[in-house]
Amino acid sequence: MRRSSSLLTAAAALTTTAMAMTAIPAGAADAPAPRATAGTQVPVFAGPLGGTPSLVADGDAGRAAPASKFVVTYTGFTPEAKAAFQRAVTMWQSKLSSPVPITVKASWEPLGSGVLGSAGPSYVWDVNGVLYADAVANKKSGKQLHAAPDIVARFSSNFSNWHFGTGPAPAGKYDFTSVVAHELGHGVGFFGAGRVSGSTGSVRINGKNVSYDRYTKLGANASSPLLWKMPDNSTQLGSALRSNNVYFDAPGVRSANGGKAAKLYAPGTWRQGSSYSHLDEATFPKGSPNSLMTYAIGGGETIRTPGNLGMAVLKAVGW
Ligand SMILES: [Zn+2]
Repeated sequence: MRRSSSLLTAAAALTTTAMAMTAIPAGAADAPAPRATAGTQVPVFAGPLGGTPSLVADGDAGRAAPASKFVVTYTGFTPEAKAAFQRAVTMWQSKLSSPVPITVKASWEPLGSGVLGSAGPSYVWDVNGVLYADAVANKKSGKQLHAAPDIVARFSSNFSNWHFGTGPAPAGKYDFTSVVAHELGHGVGFFGAGRVSGSTGSVRINGKNVSYDRYTKLGANASSPLLWKMPDNSTQLGSALRSNNVYFDAPGVRSANGGKAAKLYAPGTWRQGSSYSHLDEATFPKGSPNSLMTYAIGGGETIRTPGNLGMAVLKAVGW
């Protein structure tokens, strides 16, 4: 809810990064390598602290074998924070398959008011005209495309009420493992390019869609118009992104969501970092098995799995 000035600062910093990036000949040494553009950071906000604790159990936990390897470099973490982080890593390693290790730079630092964490890929890579997050592009090409971390993740040192334990978070505490699971979800590709500036909207970064953008629609029907087919930087797209009527639609998503497209968070006021790149909070509330990727995590809310729907979105975007 708190649209902090720090988020605006973060957006400005990203722009700077993007401009700096154009000078880097990323992938130039590898003949067919796709070209890179700076990635984006997507946060999760602190939801209400009160209320009854909820737990969504991960049905695969302890059963599924690792299918990928995350390599995390930590800065500023206590041993208990690292252990809690590692539990989210173990979960994702069992859900995602890649022949290329997924590198993560994780830092513990002050973030904006109400922001629990934020993450995204260092770069997005152009593969046949569509942009993919580092980890997806690496998987597709079968090698590490760039030495920069595949995921840059930040977690807030401002909160004194983190829960780092293995068990569910009690009332009044934010479950750190759930927040890490959420942010790593963004890092591996749960985000789109959607943004609104004034009255106009875009679903492109430097003129190209992120793979996520190819599945977003204005409306929930099979025939509803795809956002990426609307004119770039148009008021039509600006209105659509604030319509409270944006859905992610793919066959796998429908299978995982009772035959329906998945409603995204698209409130009437654009919320940079929260709008569009999250599932709808009201549709997937605390306690829902698919609520990991909503824009906020509340006190006592423990969910350490993307659910079938989260996985279906990730499969659509390239996994
Ligand atoms: Zn998020």
